[in-house]
Amino acid sequence: ARLTVPVPIDAACALLKSVFGFDAFRPGQEEIVQALLGGEDVLAIMPTGSGKSLCYQLPALVMGGLTVVVSPLIALMRDQVRQLRAYGIAAASLNSSNDIEQNRRIHDALMEGELRLLYVSPERLARADMTAWLRDAGVRLLAIDEAHCVSQWGHDFRPEYMALGRVRAELGGVRTIALTATADAPTRADIVEKLFAVPPRIFVRSFDRPNLRLAMAPKTSTPRQVLDFVRTHQGMSGIVYCLSRKRTEEYAAMLVGAGYRALPYHAGLEKPEREASQDTFLQEDGVIIVATVAFGMGIDKPDVRFVCHADLPQNVESYYQEIGRAGRDGLPADTLTLYGLDEMRLRREWIEQAEVSEERKRIDRQRLNALIALCEAPRCRRQTLLAYFGEPSAPCGNCDLCINGVESFDGTIDAQKAMSAIVRTGERFGTEHLVNILIGEATEAVLRYRHEALPTFGVGSDRKATEWRSIFRQIYAAGLIALDIVQHGRWTVTDAGWRVLRGQEKIELRRDVLEPGKGRRGKVK
Ligand code: ADP
Ligand code: ZN
Repeated sequence: ARLTVPVPIDAACALLKSVFGFDAFRPGQEEIVQALLGGEDVLAIMPTGSGKSLCYQLPALVMGGLTVVVSPLIALMRDQVRQLRAYGIAAASLNSSNDIEQNRRIHDALMEGELRLLYVSPERLARADMTAWLRDAGVRLLAIDEAHCVSQWGHDFRPEYMALGRVRAELGGVRTIALTATADAPTRADIVEKLFAVPPRIFVRSFDRPNLRLAMAPKTSTPRQVLDFVRTHQGMSGIVYCLSRKRTEEYAAMLVGAGYRALPYHAGLEKPEREASQDTFLQEDGVIIVATVAFGMGIDKPDVRFVCHADLPQNVESYYQEIGRAGRDGLPADTLTLYGLDEMRLRREWIEQAEVSEERKRIDRQRLNALIALCEAPRCRRQTLLAYFGEPSAPCGNCDLCINGVESFDGTIDAQKAMSAIVRTGERFGTEHLVNILIGEATEAVLRYRHEALPTFGVGSDRKATEWRSIFRQIYAAGLIALDIVQHGRWTVTDAGWRVLRGQEKIELRRDVLEPGKGRRGKVK
């Protein structure tokens, strides 16, 4: 058994001030530090810039001995080591750019017990000699930065991260903190499974950025919609995201034609041109970058006042990252995301046609559904967004749906029909099968399960299949039904859903997204 001497949080607070020079913890930090000092393993999910590093640096000092930090980014390791040394903390990094002499010095320092923090790349840590070094040196804490890299479902999978679970076991199940700014549920579950034998304490820091105004709208005439949006932000810096390189060129030209200082940015441009655009954007006011998603990584411009998606973003996660580049200074910033129905259909086709595993497809489908549910959200958009990250919240008052309202109708009976289809089939099926039951389509699967005999069979024949799909997405966005991610994306009914099912509560649904094309251009209220 692990022997832990409880360390008062006072010791940590004193070091926070005396070593780092900070007056107080940032939200979330103290609880994490306390959990680690109390002997627990931790998974910390916190947005970029919220102060994740301190969550292991401070415990490293309080606990003494050696803390090993795994990070995939050499530049980031160097930065942190430099900073820690400036604070007077013995830190070093082992990575592919070290020479033999440097490595020897680090080895000696390790064996002498002189190092407090050692930064290591994941491939280096996975090597047998490294594990042996660390066993000899005695590691007290393992910190795994960018922990989402362990997940094959993430956007940044790194095979080297797969070895970390084994290394951790070889180090005697050393106390561990995994950190990431990526929060979606499949990734989170994957991190826990791959890195920890016993589930850790999970901390999720708020992802809310209240100064960002959120809005989404179906595409009607995209260039005009983009122009109208940009026009309300005269003289301000902003980013317009497009899906293709060609479109960034076209939109930049359009904005220039309308008198704006707009520059295209995509991976197809020569490096000098790209860098020049980026520098202009960073250094001057009132420049608009028209970019593919290649733009923005590591860009830290505090006064970006607007972000416009001229095309549907990749998923909810990237939507959040991309709008998050606005308003870093905490002042009001505006966002608009345009989506097209044909785009949604195309994305669905790409997923079905991709040559990847069934499991991968299932997760991609769920991610797309979550994105569409956000586009078609029947209530506060921020509430829907934060709920996706597992964060409950109240209506925000700063999104298009809170401000303008939507054309809605009493969808209680429709929701009840959809949910009774879920319940009557034992909460074991996904949207397509349930829609077939509702519209009374006796498909092979329906017959095989004898679902044509259910009282629910055909009760929704007054609506088209597309309308029912939208109803499923809407009641999902409203929290009435939940997706079971582990078991084939089947729907289950939540407590809130049961209240509607029993007739204790009503639910409003959006008409405009149910029957796209009908009255969409009308003023919504
Ligand atoms: P993340 O890894 O979450 O993106 P960092 O660990 O790089 O964030 O921290 C972001 C910035 O916040 C750093 O400049 C760091 O020095 C600062 N910071 C961290 N914790 C505190 C604190 N308690 N008080 C003041 N500044 C802090
Ligand atoms: Zn809102």
